[in-house]
Amino acid sequence: MTIKYNTRSGEYGMKCPRDKCKNEAINHRRFGILPCRSCQESNKIVAKRRYEFGNLRKIDRVQTQRDHHGADMLQPYDRGKANPDFFKQYPETVESYGVKKELEKT
Ligand SMILES: [Zn+2]
Repeated sequence: MTIKYNTRSGEYGMKCPRDKCKNEAINHRRFGILPCRSCQESNKIVAKRRYEFGNLRKIDRVQTQRDHHGADMLQPYDRGKANPDFFKQYPETVESYGVKKELEKT
């Protein structure tokens, strides 16, 4: 949703931010520019769907953070030995750690 501000006319003649709508926007004291009344009515179902979608995204983000964190906790060495899990995660570091032979043994 793009809110089209008309800075020249100030608070007057503000168009409903919905595309293809020619009605005047509601300038709410607290929430600012809102779509016109008829758009708000037709919008209720969409708003509900958006909320559910937003929730899904949030869960997805948390999961991504956990995955990332799990990888961060991996150490290249585990009790003095090369940790195969770490080098599975970061295969490009095998050369710089010089553990290629050691990993082949495991
Ligand atoms: Zn409208």
